[in-house]
Amino acid sequence: MSLKLEHVTYTYNPGTAYETHALKDVSLEIPQGQFVGVIGHTGSGKSTLIQHFNGLMRPTSGTVFYNKEDIWQEGYSLKRLRSKVGLVFQYPEHQLFEADVLSDVCFGPKNQGLSQEEALERARTALKQVGLKEKYYSASPFELSGGQKRRVAIAGVLAMEPEVLILDEPTAGLDPKGRDEILDQIAWLHEERKISVLLVSHSMEDIARYVERILVMNQGEKVFDGAPKEVFSHYKELEAIGLAAPQITYIMHALRKNGLWTDLTAITVEEAKNSILKALGRGEK
Ligand code: ADP
Ligand code: MG
Repeated sequence: MSLKLEHVTYTYNPGTAYETHALKDVSLEIPQGQFVGVIGHTGSGKSTLIQHFNGLMRPTSGTVFYNKEDIWQEGYSLKRLRSKVGLVFQYPEHQLFEADVLSDVCFGPKNQGLSQEEALERARTALKQVGLKEKYYSASPFELSGGQKRRVAIAGVLAMEPEVLILDEPTAGLDPKGRDEILDQIAWLHEERKISVLLVSHSMEDIARYVERILVMNQGEKVFDGAPKEVFSHYKELEAIGLAAPQITYIMHALRKNGLWTDLTAITVEEAKNSILKALGRGEK
C-alpha cells in the first residue's frame, strides 16, 4: 500500500467572489503501516486534504496515486478505492441510519457485494475490534452514547477491511474519558491490523502520544512534516500559526532556561519525569 499526492491544489468556487484556495501545492507520501497525525488550525485544509485520498474530491491540479496508480485516470475504480481507503468523517454518527447497530455496520460490506453471512461476519469482527459490547449489537444506534456511536461508525468503515483508515477529528465533542478510549482503540487497531492510519486533530496533546509522524497544515499548505520531536522543536513557529506544542515541551524549555539540563525533546509525561530526575541527579545513570 502507498498513498501519494503530487503537487495537489484545490480551489473551492474557482472564478467567483467565494474562491478559496484550500490546498496549495501539497506533495506527500504515506507508506504502508504508518501512523500519521494531521494537525492544523480550523480552516487550514485538513478535511479538504483527506478527502483527496479516497477520491471524494478531485484536485484542481496535481495528481493522487494509490499503489502508484493515478486514481483519476480513465477506468479507475473509485468504488474499489473507497473500500481500501476508509474515511471516517467528523461527527460520523450523523451517518448512522440503519435500525440496529449490526445492520448499520453490515452496510459497507454488503455494498461491496458480500453475502449477508459474510457481511455479518465482517461486522461482528469490526465491532469487536472497536470494543463495542455484544449486548449493543441489536440496539438502535440512536440509543448509544456519543463514544459508542463513534465506535459503530468506525466499525462501519473497518468492516470493509480497508488498508488505510482515515479519521477526521474522531474525538471532537467527546468528554476526556471518551476521547482517550477512542484514541487508545485507534492505536490498538493500528498495532493489531497493521493498517496505515491518518488521524486528523487540532489537539497536539492527542496527537503527540500516538503518532510516528505529524503533518502540519496552515492556510492550505503543508508547513511541517516529520517525527513529533522534530516538529515540536519548531514550537515557536507552531504558536505563530495558532498551534501549540504539548504542554510538556513548555515545561522542559522553562526548566532548561532556569538552569536544569532537561531533555527538550521529551513529549510524554513519563519521558519528562525521567529527564527531570536525571537532571536532578536522581535518575538511573
Ligand atoms: P479544516 O478541516 O482544517 O478545518 P477545511 O478543509 O474544511 O479545513 O477548509 C479549508 C478552507 O476551505 C477553509 O478556508 C474553508 O473555509 C474552505 N472551505 C471548506 N469547505 C468549503 C466549501 N464547501 N465551500 C467553500 N469553501 C470551503
Ligand atoms: Mg475539518
